[in-house]
Amino acid sequence: MDYFPIFLRLAGEPVLVVGGGEVAARKIDLLLRTSAKVRVVAPELVAGLAERVATGEIEHVAAEFTPEHLDGVRLAIAATDKRAINAWVAHQAERRNIPVNVVDDRELSRFIVPAIVDRSPVVVAVGSSGDAPVLTRRLRERLESFLPQRLGALAQLAGKLRPTIKARIESPARRRKFWENFFDGTVAADVLAGRSVDVTDIASTLRTGEQDAGEVVLVGAGPGDPGLLTLRALRALQNADVILYDRLVSAEVLDLARRDAERINVGKTAGSAQISQDEINALLVQLAQQGKRVCRLKGGDPFIFGRGGEELEALAAAGVRFEVVPGVTAAAGCAAYAGIPLTHRDHAQSLVFVTGHVKAEGDDALDWDQLARPAQTVVFYMGLGSLEQILRRLCEHGAPESRAAAVVEQGTRATQRVVTGTLADLARKANAEGVQSPALLIVGEVTRLHETLRWFNAAANPISKQVRLTA
Ligand code: SAH
Repeated sequence: MDYFPIFLRLAGEPVLVVGGGEVAARKIDLLLRTSAKVRVVAPELVAGLAERVATGEIEHVAAEFTPEHLDGVRLAIAATDKRAINAWVAHQAERRNIPVNVVDDRELSRFIVPAIVDRSPVVVAVGSSGDAPVLTRRLRERLESFLPQRLGALAQLAGKLRPTIKARIESPARRRKFWENFFDGTVAADVLAGRSVDVTDIASTLRTGEQDAGEVVLVGAGPGDPGLLTLRALRALQNADVILYDRLVSAEVLDLARRDAERINVGKTAGSAQISQDEINALLVQLAQQGKRVCRLKGGDPFIFGRGGEELEALAAAGVRFEVVPGVTAAAGCAAYAGIPLTHRDHAQSLVFVTGHVKAEGDDALDWDQLARPAQTVVFYMGLGSLEQILRRLCEHGAPESRAAAVVEQGTRATQRVVTGTLADLARKANAEGVQSPALLIVGEVTRLHETLRWFNAAANPISKQVRLTA
């Protein structure tokens, strides 16, 4: 490390800027974010600087630079367009041990100015020791878009609370835990979202010790590709003490969880003993009541054939705090990755999600007449086991045997397979291909578009192969 990064307190301190052009003006803009006393030495000023002089924000010495201008100065910046003058300023400042920066001249500078992201009081500074300014600017842009706009407000609030917390919680370890909970918790989320918070409220919560209460975040993990996780899902995964996950959650998604989080598989795997829904509900309540931050991770979206509602009812009954993070449901994920638009002006004006877990003949609550209608797309979740029966029933209720349909196996994962056909032949084809669970059945003319719109899985896709070869 050739440069030592520091944050310098400049409030009320005299800073000298030599030069009165645009470059100097930019540096002065930055300096004025602090409350430094800026004095600019230059025979003439650009309009912007003259205005600042008129309003009294900066002081102007209308002259060529002489060494006496450095008397009593804390920091100096040379920003003229003449290298000889800049070098002279730098030399004189060095002699007086005043840190000096010559704009865009690393050789002459004692310090260089980093690229910054300003969320005061939080300031992120990025530098490359002058080697790659464009790279540091890019990093700055990424940080700029990544850091919440109201981060500063959050830090300010923490600053206000610090003395109270320090007085109330003696043990440094417990204090650290408090702050970790605080920055992950609802108050922080409120501040970042711009909702108003009451500081006295926080203090009283603290008194009752409620900050140690656990909570459950019910998270949709999407259909498999970890790229389909939401940012909130990722945050919940990284904050969790315990993760309860289902069979449908992919290993790649679980990999994104905090390393030391406990992982509990509550998914049903054929052969091994099943954990009942009641047992899962009880476990969620119990873990939260122990003060744990629980991430309840479900495939797809937790409120679409995911029993998320039932689990939350149990939590609500026990008075456990919870949040819900939606996920990309299998229908949306599989359709996108199979190139099957679920609605299309020419083929489908409505869309139905339905459970394919149909009971014995004639004994289910599905409205087959409605499902058999034209000009719609019907997506059957959990329909693989009854595939033949479902397709037959649709035909019995008036759907033509020629209606198109598709089965998507392991949608959005590298192992995704799509089998297309009609109500007459899809069951036989899927069988011949040995399609396994999880698989989604999509019924409707839109599935014909798969042939032209398929894009995922380049190896299995002749069109993208061609593109690759010619590229
Ligand atoms: N909550 C989940 C659905 C759970 S029901 C969601 O919103 O997606 C389980 C059914 O979802 C499976 O039987 C299968 O039909 C479908 N499914 C889930 N993930 C899938 C995937 N990656 N590929 C194909 N089907 C999937």
